[in-house]
Amino acid sequence: MKYISLGSKGQRFSLKEVLFKGLAPDGSLFMPEFIPTLDEGFIRDFHTMELSEIAFHVLKPFVAEDVSDDVLNRIVKDTFSFEIPLKRVEDGVYALELYHGPTQAFKDVGARFLSRLLGFFNQGESRKLMVLTATSGDTGGAVAHGFHRVKGIEVVVLYPHGKVSPYQEYQITGPGDNVHAIAVNGSFDDCQRLVKDAFNDEALRQKIYMTSANSINMGRLLPQMVYYFYAAAQLRKAGIQDLPVFAVPSGNFGNITAAMLATKMGLPVKRFIAATNANDVVPRFLQSGEYDPQATIVTLANAMDVGDPSNFSRMYDLYNNHLDTLKNSLISISVSDAQIQETIKKVYNGLDYLMDPHTASAYFALNQLKDEDEAGIFVSTAHPFKFGEILEDLLPGVLEKSGYSIEFELSGAAGIDIMNPDYSDFKSRIEKMA
Ligand SMILES: *Cc1c(COP(=O)(O)O)cnc(C)c1O
Repeated sequence: MKYISLGSKGQRFSLKEVLFKGLAPDGSLFMPEFIPTLDEGFIRDFHTMELSEIAFHVLKPFVAEDVSDDVLNRIVKDTFSFEIPLKRVEDGVYALELYHGPTQAFKDVGARFLSRLLGFFNQGESRKLMVLTATSGDTGGAVAHGFHRVKGIEVVVLYPHGKVSPYQEYQITGPGDNVHAIAVNGSFDDCQRLVKDAFNDEALRQKIYMTSANSINMGRLLPQMVYYFYAAAQLRKAGIQDLPVFAVPSGNFGNITAAMLATKMGLPVKRFIAATNANDVVPRFLQSGEYDPQATIVTLANAMDVGDPSNFSRMYDLYNNHLDTLKNSLISISVSDAQIQETIKKVYNGLDYLMDPHTASAYFALNQLKDEDEAGIFVSTAHPFKFGEILEDLLPGVLEKSGYSIEFELSGAAGIDIMNPDYSDFKSRIEKMA
């Protein structure tokens, strides 16, 4: 498989280039040159396969030119090393729990797959690869754990000091070794600027091999297709013949784009529902046909606080940039904080199922937009424990009752590396690590 840039479809890129560059040279997103279709036998029988076997078949066409079957096999076994259960919540409503990985969020899947592929492609290089990532919270933990002890790679995670939750800080600073966490005295934008300055520093790039692990990287998107097949497999095994309606809590729209890619490969799906929080650029787009990005609004589902979703152009391209074609497959609604809070309480009290705010937005949207006789799957993107403070406010004592302990130890303020948002300081730190 070769890859192209959505901005200028003439030039073709190898998988290695795509992973190491992140963004195409023209600043657009990479896409596979075409979407391969899986053979009929696989589509008929995938429910009889293990998760890692499904992963192997789904991902093989995208990597086979550059990665042997043995290596792919090892990488998917390593990536999908935790459970992804489909749980029945009520009649016709199922939760796909993507949060049983090391940092309790679905981003573990993408970070683990990308890290192992980068490690593989960097094997023959004499230079180490530096992965620079700025995070406002969730991505940093997944990247720190995903890349921990991957040979030949040094990782720097920059996060705004005092602006991530204690548990997120614990996940970012915990791994150590080749993972260097730096708390920046400033905002998330300051962190992002430092990373951009480093990428734009030609002299530094001459000396050091650098890439990013942010969510636009194809290497994070591709493995996310796998669990949609696995969800459908579990539905079939439960004896449900109906095609699923998937409701996905969406911010940058990477997760739902992966689901749409899976359907292009042959996964039978009835339709998609994208739940957003108050950041409603996509629901408005589906109504008006106008893409009108806005400044980010802060909500309870903060990993979805995105005013200009980075995967929008990928998603739209899958439907030939044609509004009515997209609307045939996708409905999207905006869910308010009040609706999220109501939903968390109602579903816990009525159905004994606890959800984090992101997941609750998807449950709400599914509940609104699914017919009674349809089979609906809402995607559970984070463990409720990760947003324990919010749940405790709504349902006092709920964490303890659910058996989730809220004790963890920060690596200690003394151990946290703090830096001012000063590029020359950042640069000399990178040079020392490489
Ligand atoms: C990142 C994230 C999302 C949004 O996923 P996108 O792929 O950006 O749409 C939803 N929920 C949680 C918990 C997340 O961390």
